[in-house]
Amino acid sequence: MIQERPGHIATTEEVVAELRRRKSFVMVSHVKPDGDTLGAGLALGLALEKLGKRVLYFQQDPVPRTLRFLPGAQRVSRDLPADLPPDALFVFCDMSDSARAGGFLPPIVRENVLDVDHHLGNTLFGALNYVLPTECSTGTCVMHLLRGLGIEIDAEIATCVLTTIMTDTGGLMHSNTSPDALELAAELMRAGADKERITREIFGNKRIAATRLLGSVINAMQFGRDGRYCWSCVDDATLAACGADGEDTEDMVNVLLGQEGIEVAALFKAYAGELRVSLRSVGRVNVQKAAASLGGGGHFRAAGLDFQGTLDQAIAAVDAALVQQGL
Ligand code: AMP
Ligand code: MN
Ligand code: MN
Repeated sequence: MIQERPGHIATTEEVVAELRRRKSFVMVSHVKPDGDTLGAGLALGLALEKLGKRVLYFQQDPVPRTLRFLPGAQRVSRDLPADLPPDALFVFCDMSDSARAGGFLPPIVRENVLDVDHHLGNTLFGALNYVLPTECSTGTCVMHLLRGLGIEIDAEIATCVLTTIMTDTGGLMHSNTSPDALELAAELMRAGADKERITREIFGNKRIAATRLLGSVINAMQFGRDGRYCWSCVDDATLAACGADGEDTEDMVNVLLGQEGIEVAALFKAYAGELRVSLRSVGRVNVQKAAASLGGGGHFRAAGLDFQGTLDQAIAAVDAALVQQGL
């Protein structure tokens, strides 16, 4: 039985002891999965399997096209088997709250929850919370655990962890690309991580529909706050006109942020009956706080939220929240 200590960030040793103690695991990714949530879960899961543990991989949404190359990705499922032992440990990767896993998980007692994450404002929803906001990805948090477990990093695990770094640093470009991250990336390449494949699958190889969609997002760019704020929108009609889908919107907000003089960018994604907003900042305005004030979350420079209401209401609310943070 894990002793609960509210607000306590678990040490590597505490988490490693719990991982050794348990026999069965469910690795849990967040909705609209990215290379960090999935890569971190697969890396830890593959390592635990090497120790003879039983590991399942839960994810509400299908694996995005760009991540299907990840070792073990084909094992990810929304369905869990009926014979799951009652003491299986659910390992939530890369989410500030368990609600980010979606609505398809069975009820889970807190005692069976390990929260591994690097977001600001993590609600510490697990019995054990391994939350390290200075890490560039959840995958690098997992690396500390793999070292603690004494696992040999094989090529598959290395590819999964390097994917988490490449994803969350925007291909080693964002400000979270620390010397530690670069050193670890080098070590992972030496262990056999397929960097070329990661680059091609996630950053290259764009679908023509996605490039058309980018054109439409760029055409619809709007500027405000004395040219410091850029936003644009995607809706069902835009997606249909381009032959694109939601996966093709991934990372487009960074193009908006890359425009001269822009400090904050927002992409409003209103499709399939949902309205989600991606926020990015060059570093002065804290978009995590802006997103959190509207029920979302994230990091200082990259955050997101789900909005209940119309697109116009969302645009107004986000603008107000950003102004509140000094935009
Ligand atoms: P995205 O713009 O979807 O790439 O997300 C940017 C960052 O914000 C990621 O770290 C997400 O985990 C986080 N994020 C996005 N949407 C939400 C949300 N609805 N609630 C909490 N965090 C979110
Ligand atoms: Mn993520
Ligand atoms: Mn992450």
